[in-house]
Amino acid sequence: MCARHDEVYNDMAESMNPFEMARQQLATVAEKIDLDPDVHEVLRYPKRELTVNFPVSMDDGSVKMFTGYRVHHNLTRGPAKGGIRYHPETDLDEVRALAFCMTVKCAVVNIPYGGAKGGVVCDPAKLSAAELEDLTRRYTTEIAPLIGPDKDIPAPDMGTNPQIMAWIMDTYSMLAGYTVPGVVTGKPIAIGGSEGRVEATGRGVVAVTREALRTAGKQLPGMSVAVQGFGNVGSVAAFLFHRAGAKVVAVSDVRGAVLNNNGLDIRQLMAHTKEHGTVVGFPGSEPLPGDELLTVPCDVLVPAALQNQITTKNAARIRARFVIEGANGPTTPQADTILRENGVFVVPDVLANAGGVTVSYFEWVQDQQSFFWTEEEVNAKLEQILTRAFSQVLTASRRHDCDLRTAAYIVGIGRVAEAIRARGIYP
Ligand code: GLU
Repeated sequence: MCARHDEVYNDMAESMNPFEMARQQLATVAEKIDLDPDVHEVLRYPKRELTVNFPVSMDDGSVKMFTGYRVHHNLTRGPAKGGIRYHPETDLDEVRALAFCMTVKCAVVNIPYGGAKGGVVCDPAKLSAAELEDLTRRYTTEIAPLIGPDKDIPAPDMGTNPQIMAWIMDTYSMLAGYTVPGVVTGKPIAIGGSEGRVEATGRGVVAVTREALRTAGKQLPGMSVAVQGFGNVGSVAAFLFHRAGAKVVAVSDVRGAVLNNNGLDIRQLMAHTKEHGTVVGFPGSEPLPGDELLTVPCDVLVPAALQNQITTKNAARIRARFVIEGANGPTTPQADTILRENGVFVVPDVLANAGGVTVSYFEWVQDQQSFFWTEEEVNAKLEQILTRAFSQVLTASRRHDCDLRTAAYIVGIGRVAEAIRARGIYP
């Protein structure tokens, strides 16, 4: 009876409104760093939010209405930056929470942006290419008053990709009457995208894992790794782990998971996925129920799929000593407490997956200057920024005697607070 009651309670607490959860995180940090109450109040609200309902002509001749959002959380440190997600379950509170997360993320890696996020309620897998293009062009037109290279620069997120960014760039440019490459990042290289942007998030995950291991006197070669999600983040991270000499023992996607305790050949797994559309059935692996991926014995676990994956239901069974959050919000606050109590070293999303927005920043800088860098330059600068950010967050965690998530928020919110104080409140 009691256990059942606890379970129901936990389920309720874990399905809490994501924006309220973000505000709670802010309140915890505010108390810890004695944040000016006026600054705290400013940060509790998104600066502006736009909801748009718009029609799309479907292939069958019908007209369907779609709902989209674009939220600017805070612009004190620079133009708004953040991805656009296409997902059937996205909503305004999720987009608000993710915009807040971007404010913190950009400040943690100290790039001159504020935080934003966008979303369209749709299932891109169920739309034809023509429908997806029309939806994207109409959504761009609807949010056009908010975006622009000096105002707000969207990028890919869940369910969106470089092609969708190209349609956004083209639509915005048609409205402007001239080509504006700097209005989005994560574009194809042919139209002003950056070398290394596609791989940036996965590359960043591996870089911060290396730094996290270093704190325990360990190195990547020989470490066993499990990766949840084999999309843009998970597949690149798995490949780079494999190349660095780590043993990727398990990988999953929406269809299932595969295991090989001697290490999966990620290059071959990528070829298999390209051909079959899933990791499932990869020769040289055993099948694994998808929900067991998170609890396989390994040194490093990378949740790189959806949010709310590590919950009170599985946190206590996680055997990895290091959890590196490739996805945004994969760990619920309750599960985070369990991991902390069990001594698991968690590198939070705002640091672990910040490689993506960092190379987005490089892309925007290159577009603004019409002067492009080599992949080596991009990767070297990315390493520099992430290594510095990791070390600053680690120092904050030691100074404030707290976990890395709280420390990352201390560093990020601290920088935003300093900017708000310096600019003052208008008028
Ligand atoms: N959507 C990615 C994120 O959550 C990238 C954002 C960007 O590049 O602006 O960090």
